[in-house]
Amino acid sequence: MKTVKFIDNNIIVDTNGNFSVTNVPCEITIQPRKSKLGIMIVGIGGNNGTTFIAGLLAKKAGITWDTTTGKKSVKYYGSMSQYGSVHIGYDSQGAPHSRLFNDIADMYNPEDIVMGGWDICKDNMYDATVKAQVIDYDLLQKLKHYIEPIIPIPSIYSPDFIAKNQAPRATNVLPSENTLRDNINQIASDIINFKKWNNLDNVIVLWCASTERFTKGTWSNRDELMEAIDNDDPEISPSIQFAIAAAQTGCTFLNGSPQNTLGPAVIDNAKYHGTFVGGEDFKTGQTKIKSVLADWLVSSGIKPLSIVSYNHLGNNDGKNLDEAPQFKSKEITKKNVIDDVVDENPAIFPDGHPDHAVVIKYIPAVGDSKRAMDEYYSEIFLGGRHTLAMHNTCEDSLLAVPIILDIILFADFFSRITIKRGDSDTPKPFGTVLSMLSLFFKAPVTNQAEPLVNAFFRQKACIDNFFRIIIGLPPADHMLLSRRGGA
Ligand code: NAD
Repeated sequence: MKTVKFIDNNIIVDTNGNFSVTNVPCEITIQPRKSKLGIMIVGIGGNNGTTFIAGLLAKKAGITWDTTTGKKSVKYYGSMSQYGSVHIGYDSQGAPHSRLFNDIADMYNPEDIVMGGWDICKDNMYDATVKAQVIDYDLLQKLKHYIEPIIPIPSIYSPDFIAKNQAPRATNVLPSENTLRDNINQIASDIINFKKWNNLDNVIVLWCASTERFTKGTWSNRDELMEAIDNDDPEISPSIQFAIAAAQTGCTFLNGSPQNTLGPAVIDNAKYHGTFVGGEDFKTGQTKIKSVLADWLVSSGIKPLSIVSYNHLGNNDGKNLDEAPQFKSKEITKKNVIDDVVDENPAIFPDGHPDHAVVIKYIPAVGDSKRAMDEYYSEIFLGGRHTLAMHNTCEDSLLAVPIILDIILFADFFSRITIKRGDSDTPKPFGTVLSMLSLFFKAPVTNQAEPLVNAFFRQKACIDNFFRIIIGLPPADHMLLSRRGGA
């Protein structure tokens, strides 16, 4: 167990707009990690699921493979926990120094994570990985005997929630005559067995399955949600059933897809069980750049008039998003990402938000290699116009998997922390929603009354500064006042 002290502050703004600052002495305590972490992926047979399993197992087995550009080995490029660093300062010669996140914090080694999960498709992990068309042929052959024995656990299938075009995949499903309680109990017992058979201390459940349509359920608390389950309410989506089973078994539940799984009742249920949730929708490519560029343009005083994003992809995710209700879920998470930047700058946006459109097309030919095109059209000095256009091509799942790894490792880390605010407070864990993970999600869910931050650099500063604090440094201000000469 490690304990560190720091000073937090708040501002108090009076009715005339004058503000004052209050300082609150705080104490952070970090519990050590236990010996074994398990991850159960819902949608393990999809592109992200199979790429995650293949990547981590290839690293663990030390596999190297040949490609047209030479021999490769697994490097977790794109993972903040493995390669990202925190600036710690400058030495007397002015040289900058940093430390890797995983050197600072007591996080699990990715190769020690025990993996399993569910899929509505019965393909074993080798067949599913072949279909995903992400992994190089040579690597795939070398991985075959590791991944072929991995079979997905049967899952909850509701054709009402994912696209109709996914129906042929539904070959590994729980009985359709099950009640919602039967489903939840079955998933809970899968989790308990996985934990027992692998001798795990802790399991995280991650929704990485197809995007669902939004639920229309309006349950505001746990009691209403439980009543809806007892009444087999058709608006209780599979992802909500997984979130409930995870909470019931003491597990953190993370949602990597855009649908509105983490509503108030699901959060209240996790709170009741003392577990955590995090989400929603992995922030991997186009939206990640948008959370950088919108912030950069507006904070430089430039006024974006329109932001238009197109992308096309040809993997199974693209096929599922080709139907209107599932696209709608994605459109919402992709569009919300500029809200905080715009709302905070009324001087630039006195008349509302810039025009903002998101278009996604399913183009089978490009497979997992997603192409994203964006145009940022802005007003500058003297009514001038500025157009910034971008083309971004990348293997979708190879961008997503390092972020999935980060979400799992940081979620586990943040769930082991307590903070004491003020001398008379008792130490408390973070709120039920692990909003410290906001950096990794397109539409971060926060705790009640907690501000929503989408802007990338604020999200990054939040994590960087937290890690600085736990090694005894103050938050970074980058002012370098003592080094700017003049004495
Ligand atoms: P995918 O279509 O390849 O995989 C989804 C898997 O989920 C499939 O194997 C499908 O059979 C399975 N599935 C569907 N419903 C299920 C259920 N109820 N229970 C268990 N399994 C179920 O998609 P993907 O590319 O792996 O993406 C997964 C999710 O992550 C999608 O919702 C996608 O929008 C989201 N996402 C992906 C990225 C990215 O890849 N860069 C970024 C952000 C979000």
